[in-house]
Amino acid sequence: MGFLQDLLPIFKKHRLDFKEMRREVGDMATFTFKPQEKIEWKSGQHGIFYIDHVKFKKSSRAFSIASTPDEEELMISMRIGENPSEYKKILTEMKAGTGVTMRGPIGPFYISDSKPVLFIAGGIGITPYRALLKDCIDNPNKMPSKIELLYLDSKEEYIYKDELEEINKHPLINIKFLNNREELINGIKYFTENHSNVASYFVCGSSTMTNSIKGLLKEQGIKKKNIKSDVFIGY
Ligand SMILES: Cc1cc2nc3c(=O)[nH]c(=O)nc-3n(C[C@H](O)[C@H](O)[C@H](O)COP(=O)(O)OP(=O)(O)OC[C@H]3O[C@@H](n4cnc5c(N)ncnc54)[C@H](O)[C@@H]3O)c2cc1C
Repeated sequence: MGFLQDLLPIFKKHRLDFKEMRREVGDMATFTFKPQEKIEWKSGQHGIFYIDHVKFKKSSRAFSIASTPDEEELMISMRIGENPSEYKKILTEMKAGTGVTMRGPIGPFYISDSKPVLFIAGGIGITPYRALLKDCIDNPNKMPSKIELLYLDSKEEYIYKDELEEINKHPLINIKFLNNREELINGIKYFTENHSNVASYFVCGSSTMTNSIKGLLKEQGIKKKNIKSDVFIGY
């Protein structure tokens, strides 16, 4: 039932009006949209965003929603390299007020109980955690007994840094900004040794990163049912 519930909203189409693009640190950018009607979802989920004001191939992409349902604007962030895909090029050139279609939001990447939580982010894989953390701060009834976020970016280009530092002041939240894999592995091992399977584990980033971290969690004895992952295909 949970599985279906998390997937069925794929059949729902929502219209969003593009508001603005903001350049972030490094090659990252944030896009905000105003939904034309109220949309319900769980923080951490992702939508499928269709660009439909011009015709081109591969006109949709999945993006985690970095904002919470309580925020007025719907926000996504992404990397845009020197040679962006057609999709991202069109997105960066979009004029305010242009409509896009979003299907969803879908997916199981949300907190479902009060057990301690370890969030593991690789680079731009931080996007769903902004929503998850902010939602817990704004709605204390959703706060699990403890949240630790291990945020790895080898270039130390941490998007949402100021906001995350503010969130880090919460007594139940511990955010670590890391710049190398060894620190990440040590942090994961430390958490698993202390919490084992009496905790939930979230992993988000490229397929290489998520596969290796899931392998490590498995080696540490963490059961599959306690691990959620979002794989950012294309990185
Ligand atoms: C659940 C989910 C959430 C995501 N959230 C975010 C987010 O918050 N921010 C973000 O930046 N990205 C996110 N992504 C990834 C996003 O959808 C794009 O794939 C990514 O941004 C790259 O897009 P692009 O247009 O730059 O490159 P693309 O043109 O999509 O492709 C880049 C490279 O990846 C390859 N590729 C593309 N699709 C696939 C595929 N299905 N299987 C194997 N190889 C493929 C292409 O051949 C190409 O070499 C998410 C993906 C998923 C599944």
